[in-house]
Amino acid sequence: MVKETRLYDLLGVSPSDSDSDIKKAYRKMALKYHPDKNPDAGEKFKEISHAYEILSDSEKREMYDRFGEEGLSREGGGMGGMDPNDLFAQFFGGGMFGGGGGGRRANAGPRRGRDMVHALSVTLENLYKGKTSKLQVTKEIICPKCDGKGGKEGAVKECGKCHGRGIEVVIRQMGPMVQQIQQQCRGCGGAGEEIDPRHKCKECNGSKTIRQHKQLEVNIDRGMKDGQKILFQGEANQAPGVVPGDIVIVIDEKEHPRFKRRGDDLYYEADVDLITALAGGNIHIQHLDDRVLNVAILPGESIKPGETKMIEGQGMPSYRHHNMGNLFVKFNVRFPEPGWTSEEEIKKLEAILPARQPVPSIPKGHHQEEVVLSTVDAHHQKKMQADEDGMDEDYEDAHNHAGPGVQCAQQ
Ligand SMILES: [Zn+2]
Ligand SMILES: [Zn+2]
Repeated sequence: MVKETRLYDLLGVSPSDSDSDIKKAYRKMALKYHPDKNPDAGEKFKEISHAYEILSDSEKREMYDRFGEEGLSREGGGMGGMDPNDLFAQFFGGGMFGGGGGGRRANAGPRRGRDMVHALSVTLENLYKGKTSKLQVTKEIICPKCDGKGGKEGAVKECGKCHGRGIEVVIRQMGPMVQQIQQQCRGCGGAGEEIDPRHKCKECNGSKTIRQHKQLEVNIDRGMKDGQKILFQGEANQAPGVVPGDIVIVIDEKEHPRFKRRGDDLYYEADVDLITALAGGNIHIQHLDDRVLNVAILPGESIKPGETKMIEGQGMPSYRHHNMGNLFVKFNVRFPEPGWTSEEEIKKLEAILPARQPVPSIPKGHHQEEVVLSTVDAHHQKKMQADEDGMDEDYEDAHNHAGPGVQCAQQ
């Protein structure tokens, strides 16, 4: 038994779920709550990122399961952790990260900027047919007026205060102790250089980059899947002396009201009348393009409630292949309402339908008792549901406590 479940609850998973369940849950929620898409959900985004950071690390997850969040802070790495945006970009981008001055890369060559990750919500129809979507992104580009210098030629000088290091050392006296602290240079804000205000570039105000809106044409190919990435190489933010990262578009497949998708296959639920299920007829399925599939149910095919049949080649197109998935149709058979016909008509049915299975005879030592069926009311339906889900512990507890009470009454 785990100590607490708050981090699991945040991702909508349970402690018994697998790593891939947790990964899936984070992916869905991160796309939903990413500030690009949901600017008011900043806190929620941070929380789910933190939860995922812990639960995706087997050591931290074990620590959390055993000791709760307290156990994590005891480890010394509980608070703070990773920047939610870095986690997100790492999860979806998978590129290299030079942006934060990451340690893995050697000092060879110029620094690489961060990838920019955008979620793109796409309908199943568009994943079926393919589409070119326009996506407006805002990014930093090198100021074209000063060519990223920040001012006129010669206007930019090394900061006199920090000599270009961007860092200054401050000496602080605390009682008898003298402390040396390194902090960002206040003279240049950490940039390491000063620009003569008279010659500062007016376009970028000396910041070397300007914001630009850019429209990307995103080609959504037939058969693309949820979570698939489309890369725009080198299109992320520009900065002087940095190789720009990529813009990464992540497909976020919208739920469809009629179809469910599993890989290249589609799943559909169809209602049929009892007469159609038994005697044949047609149903129509509006596909993801402008076609309506006219599905013939043959007389005597006898579709059973809950039965699934397959229509070959009517699933999703396979990404970059020429084959198609299949369409699985699950049938819900609509039975007539109670009292739908007369006794005489029912006699006709008895003449047509296969004969009743004989009721087995009563074994020796048993006797017969007459009972009737009644309709399950809302209260009992609720209880049945709770038992099936196995979730309602209160209900079970109530039952267990009732046990001894009954025994008392019998004594
Ligand atoms: Zn400029
Ligand atoms: Zn400075």
